[in-house]
Amino acid sequence: MPNITAVLFDFDDTLVDWSRQATHGGEIYRRHIDNVYTYLQAQAIPLPDRETLFHCYLDTVIQAWQVAKADWTGVSFAATMQQTLDKLELNINGIGLDTLLHEFAWQPVPNVVLYPDTLTTLTTLRERGYKLGLITNSMMPMWMRDIELAAYQLLDFFDARVTSGDVGYMKPHPAIYHHVLEQLGIVPEQAVFVGDRPENDIAGANAVGMVSVMMSPPHLQYKDTKIRPNFTIKQLHELLPILAALESEVSNGQTRTE
Ligand SMILES: [Mg+2]
Repeated sequence: MPNITAVLFDFDDTLVDWSRQATHGGEIYRRHIDNVYTYLQAQAIPLPDRETLFHCYLDTVIQAWQVAKADWTGVSFAATMQQTLDKLELNINGIGLDTLLHEFAWQPVPNVVLYPDTLTTLTTLRERGYKLGLITNSMMPMWMRDIELAAYQLLDFFDARVTSGDVGYMKPHPAIYHHVLEQLGIVPEQAVFVGDRPENDIAGANAVGMVSVMMSPPHLQYKDTKIRPNFTIKQLHELLPILAALESEVSNGQTRTE
């Protein structure tokens, strides 16, 4: 049994706490689609009204995720933006999608905050020599989620980080885990994966052969599934004794029990 050398994390509800966030679903994107609208308007592009653009975008995104979940492919934010423009027959006169993605001006979601022990736990893991990775099911390219990581002062912790939008597959598809494991130069048995969603984070980590840890804070209640993590924690710092126990198993030559 190899030593654990890396800890990989999901992002939303694993490293940051969504429990105080009250905005409903797609409304989170409204002010950002408004930014795109305002930009296109300033370029004198003929546009429908703001609500039409917003709802067309939301419908496109919802549909794209429904389709992607059939085979766990990754939704691409740029593709949903292009599809929205196509549906509305908007000619943006050669303005690149990259420009629109920047004008979207993504920011941390209001009232989403770090858990009280996120920074101290990650700091301790780094001090103990673990490589850290991040795998998020997100249609946005990593550079957009990096805006959040920077705001939460998380950016410098990770040796590898990906979104499903970039990789083209989402958790639980094995390809997204292998993508990061390869970046870190390790095999699955050397990694612990920490995430909050049984059917995405835990099922995928189990299938790939990582040690799975389910982050289960009080505000998350998933209906009982048959998917079993190797460990369950309610706070991130509970990871530290788990890793210490895994290390002593290795030094004692024990076989890990599932
Ligand atoms: Mg999550």
